[in-house]
Amino acid sequence: MISRRALLEGAAAAGGARAAVAVLAALGGLPAMPSSAAPPALPRDGRRALVVGAGIAGLVAALEMKRAGWSARVLEAAPRAGGRCMTLRAGDVVEEEGSPAQRVAWDAAPHLYANPGPARIPHHHHGILGYCRALGVPLEVLVDENRAARLEASTGPVPMRRVQADLRGLVAELAAKGLERGTAEAPLGEADLDALRAMLRRFGALGRDMRYHGTSRAGWAEPPGAGLAPPRAMAPLDPRLLLEPALWEGAAFAEGVDYAATMLQPVGGMDRIAAAFATALGDSLVTEAEVLSLRRTEAGARITWRGADGTVRQDEAPRILLALPAPVLARLDTDLSSERKIGLAALHCAAAAKLAFQCDRRFWEEDHAIYGGISWLPREATQLWYPSHGFHAAKGILIGAYIWEDETGERFGARSPAERAAVIAADGEALHPGLSREVAAPVSIAWRRMPRARGAWAEWTAEQRRGLYPLLRSPEGPYHFAGEYLSWFTGWQEGAVLSAWAALKGMA
Ligand SMILES: Cc1cc2nc3c(=O)[nH]c(=O)nc-3n(C[C@H](O)[C@H](O)[C@H](O)COP(=O)(O)OP(=O)(O)OC[C@H]3O[C@@H](n4cnc5c(N)ncnc54)[C@H](O)[C@@H]3O)c2cc1C
Repeated sequence: MISRRALLEGAAAAGGARAAVAVLAALGGLPAMPSSAAPPALPRDGRRALVVGAGIAGLVAALEMKRAGWSARVLEAAPRAGGRCMTLRAGDVVEEEGSPAQRVAWDAAPHLYANPGPARIPHHHHGILGYCRALGVPLEVLVDENRAARLEASTGPVPMRRVQADLRGLVAELAAKGLERGTAEAPLGEADLDALRAMLRRFGALGRDMRYHGTSRAGWAEPPGAGLAPPRAMAPLDPRLLLEPALWEGAAFAEGVDYAATMLQPVGGMDRIAAAFATALGDSLVTEAEVLSLRRTEAGARITWRGADGTVRQDEAPRILLALPAPVLARLDTDLSSERKIGLAALHCAAAAKLAFQCDRRFWEEDHAIYGGISWLPREATQLWYPSHGFHAAKGILIGAYIWEDETGERFGARSPAERAAVIAADGEALHPGLSREVAAPVSIAWRRMPRARGAWAEWTAEQRRGLYPLLRSPEGPYHFAGEYLSWFTGWQEGAVLSAWAALKGMA
């Protein structure tokens, strides 16, 4: 007899993740989560619930409810599941509030896509990665930090590796000088001091004199060849240049636990995760179902919603999970407490934005040997992302801007799409002279202007975390709540997963 595992592997080989999930559903089971991720165990008592919003939080909650045998339905206003977990491809349309609609005019090819929302998954985000594994979403490495990428100094672009090597050399040399002058106040014996000197030499690539004279870690001025002349390392940069925040901030970003290797992305676009959930949920997911209002009833609460054909319908359930972004929920017609409504509206949501465009030549690979990664600019564009997929293909999609600072994001969002593209192309010239000639079919999203998100992610103050956070995450009568804002991982899909698990615990 063919085993369940062999059947699934066969289906995946023949038809990919969707086929495997469809086979699982047909077998009457839902994929098991790996042991490193732990959704709560729900009572298997056939209870009924409605979920509003099919972002990652709503999808996770609905899948776990189904797995426990609950009768669960998800109502999603958009024509597709995923919410902020979105991927843009040829023919898609971006509709911001107050901006002309933008149609994506890129070529149609599997590698020509951009993730305008989430783009990377850190290796320790066990919840979201657990669902990728369980649902058969193939992953690949996303190059986050790339030493060949560039940082813009006041003198022009500098490769990341040169800044990192010279910063370490500078710091190690200063520390070594401090040691010799006895200004290091650590209680160290002679053997410890020797070990410290050895560490500093290796850390900073110092010479025997404990000075930094440059290193090949910074790259080559004359690369190794097969001729008579020896290779020559880059000379150290002027230390004053290294003190420009645009350099040291960019050089250190991947030290953050959420930015360090290994970073992952779903093959073919971030929305492959949402698509796999949608397949697993089948007809429990209703798209183009815009929830208009919520009212408590004796038996729970009633949802009034408008379907794809424009008909307004009503549904009632004893428990309703509201998996909407805070500013969207704040505006919805509900009978939630005024304390909660005021709190939801008070929560700050970032004005982050991205702009992507097609390049008909992968100049970053051809001319600069940059394969994936991020360059940094002290300009409106802030970051430029090179694709970590489609290497050596004819064309590619660059993220020409990733802005997260509020004032800059607001300024960017207030421009028309055409103005945004012009500003970002001009900014990009600072990193890659001639880049503006390579920009084709730019598309941008300013997240505060997306009517079903109204911001990129929540940003809590310490004071709100003490008072408002416990209030917003607690249930209210038949209403339960989930969404990235109800976690300590705001701005990450992992936060949406964990918030869904926390809400489910409260519903169990
Ligand atoms: C620019 C940007 C970069 C990011 N980068 C990363 C990253 O690299 N890695 C990462 O893991 N995370 C990243 N994130 C964060 C991640 O996208 C979110 O944390 C997560 O997707 C939020 O999921 P959610 O379910 O809480 O909300 P959402 O995804 O917003 O889901 C809410 C859903 O509710 C629906 N809805 C709204 N109104 C109604 C209504 N009236 N009726 C019915 N449905 C409705 C919406 O259409 C949507 O589908 C990024 C986000 C942004 C914006």
